[in-house]
Amino acid sequence: MNPSRDDTIAAPATAAGHAAVAIVRLSGARALAIARTLAHIEPRPRLAELCAFRDASGAVLDHGLLLFFPAPHSYTGEDVVELQCHGGRVISDALLQRAFALGARPAEPGEFTLRAYLNDKLDLLQAEAIADLIASGSLQAARAAQRSLDGEFSAAVATLQAALTNLRVRIEAWLDFPDEELTFDAAPQCIAELDTLLAGLEALTARARSGRALRDGLSVAIAGPPNAGKSSLLNRLAGYDAAIVTDIPGTTRDPLREQLLLDDLPVTIVDTAGLRDTVDPIEREGVRRTRVEVTRADRVLWVADARTPLATNLREANEAVGAGAPFTLLLNKIDLTDATPGASEDGEVAIIRLSALTGAGIDLLVVHLKAVAGLGAEVAGAFSARRRHLDALARVRAHLVVARAELTDALEVTAEELRRAQIPLGELTGDVTSDDLLGEIFATFCIGK
Ligand code: GDP
Repeated sequence: MNPSRDDTIAAPATAAGHAAVAIVRLSGARALAIARTLAHIEPRPRLAELCAFRDASGAVLDHGLLLFFPAPHSYTGEDVVELQCHGGRVISDALLQRAFALGARPAEPGEFTLRAYLNDKLDLLQAEAIADLIASGSLQAARAAQRSLDGEFSAAVATLQAALTNLRVRIEAWLDFPDEELTFDAAPQCIAELDTLLAGLEALTARARSGRALRDGLSVAIAGPPNAGKSSLLNRLAGYDAAIVTDIPGTTRDPLREQLLLDDLPVTIVDTAGLRDTVDPIEREGVRRTRVEVTRADRVLWVADARTPLATNLREANEAVGAGAPFTLLLNKIDLTDATPGASEDGEVAIIRLSALTGAGIDLLVVHLKAVAGLGAEVAGAFSARRRHLDALARVRAHLVVARAELTDALEVTAEELRRAQIPLGELTGDVTSDDLLGEIFATFCIGK
């Protein structure tokens, strides 16, 4: 995305469809002149004015409110005009066409926010948080986005950045003027500071990981032998407290996906109940697609009968799911045994004993899924975060670990690693960034944002 920043852009700010009000937004140097011509008034800053929006012949298109936010005190940092007209497509389209005729051009997706970022109204973390806030699927996810938007994530990054700079200044000063007679006697203190930095980074990462889980959730495939209770489990989960269930329609033979919200964790469940050998070619295709979904899932829940020997269940699960895909063994129907609900492990495999019929142990499964997704106790302070943020934080950590290890032996390496650690931190807020990355981020925004 490389559209000219000098253009005046216009787009609907509200979704299409029947509604009481629709909003058309303009940003750029010509916004004010377009507003004057369109509304035949002299707009006053930050004042809602009732006026008539007119077409080229002067005929009234609609009556509505006009708001003018002069640069730099606007969302984009440029002159911004908002036209609030009656809802429905026709009027807002007519207003847009009029704005285009008067010199505006259609905004690209996310272009208003891109301009806000380029004009230093917000940093990249905050810009992304705006898209996350709009797309949030739960109140917790919205709160996490709001926290990032308020700058809490950015402030935490800035604190780390400042501490790193401080440390670098001292180490590089010593490297520039080393005293041959002395060893670097501040080493213990620097190690302590690095430990504090690493601890701070760990806490920040946990909050970001929770935020990512709130945003992206977990995709789960339910699989297992016939009659083990897969459908019952799905129904039980769908009926879990405050679960939102929506069928994502596909063609009839496509794998069925359910979107659930389990304790604020968005979970996409792929139902593999149809996984069976069949001669029907269409159904076979459905089965093939389902198998693909299983391998794509973040987690497979292998549902088995608790009365079957554990070794058999483990073997069947391993054979069917394959080594690559992580799975959890659910020992179902414990109500028919003496077993109590519980979670344990056999080697690498997590095992949960439950009953889809009575609901016993389902809470343990939800806790387990939240842990798998990385939705920890930090949820109350989570920052809305994406994979790119977690990747960047992991790179910072890797550099700090090397910096710490080399501190007493190779101070130059420590200095270099501290410098390198600052780069991914800068990428988070957008201080260091590439046009490609910006294009990628803003292309996922909606038009008009
Ligand atoms: P699927 O073929 O794996 O989808 O299994 P279903 O969910 O259709 O269940 C098969 C049978 O087992 C049904 O009669 C269920 O009522 C029963 N069932 C499922 N879960 C439980 C459970 O936890 N306890 C008991 N007693 N029966 C269960």
